[in-house]
Amino acid sequence: MKKIGIMGGTFNPIHMGHLLLAEWAMEAAKLDEVWVIPTGCSYMKAGQDIATPEDRYRMVCMAVENNKRLKCDDIEIRRQGYTYSYETLELLNQKYPEYHFYFIFGADCLFSIETWKYPEKIFANSSIIAAVRGNTSTDKMQDKIDMLKRKYQADISLLPFLQLDISSTEIRKRISLGKSIRYLVPDCVMEYIEEKGLYQHEIY
Ligand code: NAP
Repeated sequence: MKKIGIMGGTFNPIHMGHLLLAEWAMEAAKLDEVWVIPTGCSYMKAGQDIATPEDRYRMVCMAVENNKRLKCDDIEIRRQGYTYSYETLELLNQKYPEYHFYFIFGADCLFSIETWKYPEKIFANSSIIAAVRGNTSTDKMQDKIDMLKRKYQADISLLPFLQLDISSTEIRKRISLGKSIRYLVPDCVMEYIEEKGLYQHEIY
């Protein structure tokens, strides 16, 4: 059975931290591929200033172009209305019953995932790979994982990751202040942002 990592995110914009996480998850869990899936419209980010789904999708496609095991998928940006992870994972399982899906995210999400829509369906349709940044203590996290395993029969593994303080918010801030984002994002993404004039007018 093919093992496919799923990395969802707003990717506003995608940056080196995201790409490194995909690469390390692929290596650690011996995944065949990672599909990077930009969100369409997230109800949790309603009202925030976010580049269009098309621009975020284009930037992700460009960022993964040179790695044949990374794919960009438009499944969420094609859906109307708010998009939920449980729906995406259900649809992927229906479409590709021969694949096993691994949902990759930052380990802090383990503390909020029960507030997401139908967490039980997320656990039923995927294994979880949760990235732990730096030397964060995993004691509290392990308690949470044990609880989620008991309650949902969840399959969760922790991925030791780097403390890389790169964030999309910081990147947008640097752009609006006229500062360089070279080496924080792939060159092609930086050029796309410049060409389209994205994030120039954010207010901080
Ligand atoms: P994002 O900010 O665009 O980032 C995408 C992923 O990369 C996140 O897991 C994030 O972890 C991780 N990441 C970002 N910077 C990193 C760095 N420097 N080092 C390591 N990891 C880094 O993602 P998002 O907008 O929060 O969304 C994450 C996923 O959760 C999406 O698929 C979204 O649809 C899903 N979600 C679903 C629901 C729902 O279904 N109800 C609700 C909320 C979120 P961190 O989050 O730890 O930064």
